[in-house]
Amino acid sequence: MSDDRDLETVPAGATRCGIVALVGRPNVGKSTLLNALLGRKVSIVTPRPQTTRTRIHGVLTRPDLQIVFADLPGIHARQPRAINRYMNRTALASLADADLNLFIIEALRWTDEDERALEELRRAGRPVLLVINKSDRARPRDRLLPFIAEVSRKAEFVDVVPLSALKRSNLECLPGLIARHLPESPLLYPPDQVTDASDRFMAAEIIREKLTMRLQEEVPYGLMVEIEGIGQAEDEPGKLVVQAVIWVERTGQKAIVIGKGGELLKEVGRAARLDLKRHFGRPVHLELWVKVREGWSDDDSALRKFGFET
Ligand code: GDP
Ligand code: MG
Repeated sequence: MSDDRDLETVPAGATRCGIVALVGRPNVGKSTLLNALLGRKVSIVTPRPQTTRTRIHGVLTRPDLQIVFADLPGIHARQPRAINRYMNRTALASLADADLNLFIIEALRWTDEDERALEELRRAGRPVLLVINKSDRARPRDRLLPFIAEVSRKAEFVDVVPLSALKRSNLECLPGLIARHLPESPLLYPPDQVTDASDRFMAAEIIREKLTMRLQEEVPYGLMVEIEGIGQAEDEPGKLVVQAVIWVERTGQKAIVIGKGGELLKEVGRAARLDLKRHFGRPVHLELWVKVREGWSDDDSALRKFGFET
């Protein structure tokens, strides 16, 4: 996994720019790390695995440096549904394209899924920097150093960095360490752009995050949010109107999402509206509907409608 380019030939003062994929099994904290590095939420985070469904670019621009992070759906064991096949394919294709891969694992944990992700990284053949996340949770503390030594031996990592994305500790060294592996290149994004995600996409993701947080295990993965309209309110200048449909897979799930007397949906709407307001920097009027489309997560035409490239 050593670098195949002589990057020290980049002249002093030149701009380095490249793509860095965030790789790891579900739930290790890839999206949390990205948001922490950017100081802004571009990728939604929940305690549930498989929250990130499509690739999102998050862009960090500093003088002479632009890092384009690709937050990927986690690589996971083979699962039969079309959405899982899609998520695996998206993740794997991106590894081989990256200038550098960040391999993210959890402190004091090494699982078969981590092993599988490392195998994919080996196959991709790009340089790999190992991030040991959730170091804040490592107990007992004196097991951390031996763990770092042990995982460091699993491959030829260009660096090994223990940190906590949640507590934002030891993050500051990362951009500099990453920069050493990026080529000299013109910027890929304008310097003020933080993500390639559209307003529509961000709005749908924020609503899905709030739903997922409240529903726990009750509607496993069968949720999709589609934005039917997003635009300026006619009656109130500066106000944004967002019209969204929450698609579920079965009629029984519709009742769960709405909740007793509509309580759950109202609560989701309140939380989502606050976050949408924060994201777009203006007041938001949110309209939510719940509709049923049977078996969408295993249906290629439904996935295409929801924006997945199947
Ligand atoms: P992803 O699936 O890899 O994108 O993981 P997420 O970023 O969605 O995080 C999964 C869970 O781990 C969430 O509940 C996060 O709050 C939590 N988490 C992420 N980073 C840390 C960390 O540094 N420390 C602790 N204690 N929890 C974290
Ligand atoms: Mg994620």
